[in-house]
Amino acid sequence: MTRIVVGNWKMHETSAQASVLARGIAAALADEPRSATVVLAPPFTALEAVRKSIHGTHLVLGAQTMHWADEGAFTGEISPPMLLELGVRYVILGHSERRRYCGEVDAEINRKVRAALGHGLVPIVAVGESEQERDAGITDERVTAQIRAAFEGVAATDLRNAVVAYEPVWAIGTGRNCDPQEADRVMGTIRASIPGLESTPFLYGGSVSPANFASYLARANCQGGLVGGASLDSASFAQLVHLAERGT
Ligand code: PEP
Repeated sequence: MTRIVVGNWKMHETSAQASVLARGIAAALADEPRSATVVLAPPFTALEAVRKSIHGTHLVLGAQTMHWADEGAFTGEISPPMLLELGVRYVILGHSERRRYCGEVDAEINRKVRAALGHGLVPIVAVGESEQERDAGITDERVTAQIRAAFEGVAATDLRNAVVAYEPVWAIGTGRNCDPQEADRVMGTIRASIPGLESTPFLYGGSVSPANFASYLARANCQGGLVGGASLDSASFAQLVHLAERGT
């Protein structure tokens, strides 16, 4: 399976800053043909600038969320056709920060996932347990419930057009990355929870760095990473891409 490295820039980088970062990443990766898929997901306001900055490279544009409707009275929201018009091909859905700070619930995430697939956008569906859920021993129950809800009503044959990101909430932005063996076990549990996920790429996310990424990539269930902090530095991000391409 092709490896995938996704940079989630969150609410960082103005348009002007995003251009500089995207050009820096493109320059750091200009040395060889890419065997991994490399996705940059800037804020909405920087999509156009990043699109221009990566034109003619192998880098691919992603978004951090979207609405499920094509258009309508949804103040502040962005629709799938709007993303497609800007050249977006991947969209992160169900990120724990969206769930936590924007009140996104499983049923909405499911509508978004179905809308993305219906429009030919690749949903990167993020699931993960909180620290309290892990301590309570309900990690597997939690992540399988999230993934089943996200893909409810999606045909098994469409699941290969999606990406799953396992992101333990307690590992995001904390520097406390999940033990790679445990991450692999949870990803295996998620993969086995719905028929059709066998050929879906799985990413690990949660304090990925150039120092730990290879230990995730070495695991059977991991095809790449969803990266926050380390994606904001062109040299670190390029290192992650090079690690993903090693041995493929
Ligand atoms: C994320 O943004 O999804 C993420 C995993 O962030 P970080 O790599 O900073 O933990």
